[in-house]
Amino acid sequence: MKTIGLLGGMSWESTLWYYQALNEGIKKQLGGFHSAKIAMYSVDFAEIEHLQMQGDWQKAGEVLAQAALGVEKCGADFLLICTNTMHKVAPNIQAKLSIPLLHIADATAQELIRQEVSKVGLLGTAFTMEQDFYKGRLEQKYGLEVVVPNQADRQIVHKIIYDELCLGRIQSDSKNEYLRIINELEKQGAQGVILGCTEIGLLVNQDDTQVKLFDTTFIHADAAILEALKT
Ligand code: GLU
Repeated sequence: MKTIGLLGGMSWESTLWYYQALNEGIKKQLGGFHSAKIAMYSVDFAEIEHLQMQGDWQKAGEVLAQAALGVEKCGADFLLICTNTMHKVAPNIQAKLSIPLLHIADATAQELIRQEVSKVGLLGTAFTMEQDFYKGRLEQKYGLEVVVPNQADRQIVHKIIYDELCLGRIQSDSKNEYLRIINELEKQGAQGVILGCTEIGLLVNQDDTQVKLFDTTFIHADAAILEALKT
């Protein structure tokens, strides 16, 4: 079995799920006492969030690349960045590593294609919903049609992620807002909606809606399990 590298802590609320999903997935596949081989570096998210707000992506990329090198030195065979947003600096991180990166948007796009979804809604931070490193990648590399909420709703989605979910706060009015926005995306023709932020599952899950949801945390973890068990 390969060793899975995790760059976590963004936020730790969602990294917990990665850890659990990876171990449960390996146990399901191999049985008995089997568990995932994991090398993890969990950052102090305050430092990263500060750099995001400053717009200092260069420095954020350097901090994460340094942490990722630690993961590689620990024996990881490949790396997962446990956040959609920080894939903005994925090329900076990959440039410093000799192990491959398993990109969260690639894993998600492959799952959408497998489920024959060609037009999809996307929820995440403003960075993820608006920029080329994520939305553009889904469109240009995979030919998917990606629908995002309007400007006012993007702000709501973004603010709830940073003011609540990354701090472990779950509020029912925010859940209602997310469900309203998910329905809006469906009305615009989305065949499903990507939960493109690793904390959104804290707030909404498939039991809450008829709209097909694609939770990137679990899609990413499933892709890692497959990769870890490849011979
Ligand atoms: N975990 C979130 C994501 O998947 C947001 C936190 C961050 O800015 O990294 O985008």
